[in-house]
Amino acid sequence: MSKATTSPFSFEFFPPKTPEGAQKLEQVRRDLYELKPQFFSVTYGAGGSTQDGTLQQVQAILAEGHDAAPHFSCIGATRESVRAQLSQFKAAGIRRMVALRGDLPSGHGTFGEFRYASELVEFIRTETGDHFHIEVGCYPEVHPQAKSPEADVQAYVAKVKAGASSAITQYFYNTDAYFRFVDEAYKYGADIPVVPGIMPIISSTQLMRFSDACGAEIPRWIRLRLQSYGDDSASIKAFGLEVVNDLCDQLLTAGVPGLHFYTMNQSTAAKQICHHLAHTV
Ligand code: FAD
Repeated sequence: MSKATTSPFSFEFFPPKTPEGAQKLEQVRRDLYELKPQFFSVTYGAGGSTQDGTLQQVQAILAEGHDAAPHFSCIGATRESVRAQLSQFKAAGIRRMVALRGDLPSGHGTFGEFRYASELVEFIRTETGDHFHIEVGCYPEVHPQAKSPEADVQAYVAKVKAGASSAITQYFYNTDAYFRFVDEAYKYGADIPVVPGIMPIISSTQLMRFSDACGAEIPRWIRLRLQSYGDDSASIKAFGLEVVNDLCDQLLTAGVPGLHFYTMNQSTAAKQICHHLAHTV
């Protein structure tokens, strides 16, 4: 099976919840295959709500000849349950995964046998050696639960030392935060590729809601511009495209190792941005 790996892009989906959503995502996948991405990743509901959906989606992408990585969170997990899941991934031919701690559903429940993602990464390496390319998450604008920015960089460094292969960032619109984070981590010997996570701007309310929850900052000038467009979705999309095109231009020109798009299961914005970037890559 040949894998198309000629662009620096990767794309993230969430498992569809309805048959209509699944049908729509099939078309989205096909649209994005044209961009020859490095891989696709599929999110995972912490606490296990979408585990089956994640695996199904990853298997569909692999069967269509493209690399795909399940996200995998260790909230509520035991060593035994992670071991079983790793066997399932291996049996499905999966070679890449995104290893995360995850969040307690609505802040309730228990952490399980793994307290932090670094412990999960260490366990996966001990159990499976070099079988998986392990991606981890990182937060240029600081994870919302971090004790301090310094502690958060150290938490990331611990994941790298535990065996992470590369990292994907939470999305950001401020490139200084990304470069400072990468420089700081590098000083501590964490020198794996750090791929910026890119959130296309397609809806003002959706972006504000996500950003409040995950601690990503929307710069004041972007927030005010978006607010000024009210319900005018065409203007929001046109402005969002300009902003994200510029962001990606700056990042690629500075030599980032790739771009990972949070697609929200839609292809239009990601395709427009990647076509715009065709002259840079
Ligand atoms: P960790 O690296 O464990 O960090 C969690 C917190 O603990 C941080 O504040 C960190 O500073 C702190 N910390 C870590 N180690 C220590 C230590 N030794 N001592 C003290 N503090 C410590 N969530 C999902 O549920 N499903 C998904 O599919 C999903 N995909 C994601 C993909 C990406 C690329 C990213 C960036 C995030 C994703 N998330 C997903 C969200 C993620 O699960 C949450 O942000 C979660 O709160 C942290 O996960 P982590 O793996 O970064 O945790």
